[in-house]
Amino acid sequence: MAMRRVALQGRHLLSSSHLFRRHMSTEPMAALDRIRKSGLLKTQGLVGGKWVDSYDGKKIEVQNPATGDVIASVPCMGSKETTDAISSAYSTYSSWSKLTAAERSKALRNWYDLIIKHKDELALLITLEQGKPIKEALGEVNYGASFIEFFSEEAKRIYGDIIPAPLSDRRLLVLKQPVGVVGAITPWNFPLAMITRKVGPALACGCTVVVKPSEYTPLTALAAADLALQAGIPPGVLNIVMGNAPEIGDTLLKSTQVRKITFTGSTAVGKKLMEGSASTVKKLSLELGGNAPCIVFDDADIDVAVKGSLAAKFRNSGQTCVCANRILVQEGIYEEFAKAFVKAVQGMQVGNGLVEGTSQGPLINEAAVQKVEKFVNDATSKGANVILGGRRHNLGMTFYEPTVVSNVNRDMLLFKDEVFGPVAPLVPFKTEEDAISMANDTNAGLAAYIFTKSIPRSWRVSEALEYGLVGVNEGIISTEVAPFGGVKQSGLGREGSKYGMDEYLEVKYVCMGNLKET
Ligand code: ADP
Repeated sequence: MAMRRVALQGRHLLSSSHLFRRHMSTEPMAALDRIRKSGLLKTQGLVGGKWVDSYDGKKIEVQNPATGDVIASVPCMGSKETTDAISSAYSTYSSWSKLTAAERSKALRNWYDLIIKHKDELALLITLEQGKPIKEALGEVNYGASFIEFFSEEAKRIYGDIIPAPLSDRRLLVLKQPVGVVGAITPWNFPLAMITRKVGPALACGCTVVVKPSEYTPLTALAAADLALQAGIPPGVLNIVMGNAPEIGDTLLKSTQVRKITFTGSTAVGKKLMEGSASTVKKLSLELGGNAPCIVFDDADIDVAVKGSLAAKFRNSGQTCVCANRILVQEGIYEEFAKAFVKAVQGMQVGNGLVEGTSQGPLINEAAVQKVEKFVNDATSKGANVILGGRRHNLGMTFYEPTVVSNVNRDMLLFKDEVFGPVAPLVPFKTEEDAISMANDTNAGLAAYIFTKSIPRSWRVSEALEYGLVGVNEGIISTEVAPFGGVKQSGLGREGSKYGMDEYLEVKYVCMGNLKET
């Protein structure tokens, strides 16, 4: 994604900014004050344990999407700063990877405790820079922290193997060792959790990391990194750079010292990173776009289906890669479901995420709203009907009305691509076979949801869906203890759970020979 706001060298921040004085209303101001007082408003990059500006002084402004206010400015870094961050991660690797598992585990546990201690400030920061409602932001902090807790425990369970040897004077061993320096590139929709889900297992395994958070939401990443330092994670183990994304990306890709790239973001950028990793043959984990089907069968419990699909669709205003993107509804239940679903959507409150009761915040930027408008216009021009919403919200900015579109079909953009906004397309279908064929008719394969009371159908359909995650009668399924990741063009590798550790480990075979006493 293109950089949003590159400010001029030496631009003043915060209190001296006229933007700040002109716009900032009471709630955001109070929130920012609280974060500043806690010491967690960090506005520099972190390289080798030192807070640093960009070497040429360039900055990027971070805005509140709900108000347009400038919250802070952070350094606009590039190749030079990234090279230094890689060097610091590389030189720290030898000491960090040699600590005992218990020592690394303890440092991670301290980090987890500090994140929980500061969860209110972190949640405010997430709402301020990303826009999601404060309740969801708090949910993200708990979810994000859970990866650090889980992987602090897993650090102690990196077991190898002893293989029965084919010759009596040999012993065959398998060691699991950290992959080395990791480059982690993360998106704006989960400013904390997408980082902890990568850094948690990396650090647990003994890797060191250079993180590049999204330029839209760097403040949460910087606050979390500060807490890591406070927790006793040694300087250089976790480095944060942000700014010119392609330049930082290229520097990570070209470095022979970086042995692994882990990325969450768009499929287009993921493909570029995969291509760029070839020259140095890096290990890769990619968590890319989805196009989640949510299948409601005639035999579903309607209340469960409405509640589940609503949660799966409208979380973070539809801006997650596991959001229900196509709600496929069987003909016999279609009208009843549509009515109940619309009623539930009408009950959602749109507004600034800091305001109590808000369940739908703004979209991240103007481009996101234009994409939603394009998809809705495409659908109506091809015969679909907007049965709720379908317009920008009268709050202005990037607020969009929670929307339901009926009679969507395979020819429409709403069916083919990820809308990444608060638009629920309803797609009628006749048979189970039709539903499976429609669901799998995409290059994506991240999350899928089904609603049915039939146990045999639950199994049959779950197994037939070409997806990495399947929710049965449940719309919110992510947890640190289960593997998260996609098939087809939704990505490579898994995050979270014991499987998430393998992504940061190499398997080494050691053959001990000539063991007969002479
Ligand atoms: P989204 O549309 O969800 O923001 P992107 O793939 O554009 O998805 O962004 C995800 C992350 O990838 C962000 O941190 C962004 O800055 C970064 N990014 C974008 N382009 C590149 C690139 N060419 N190389 C490396 N990182 C990039």
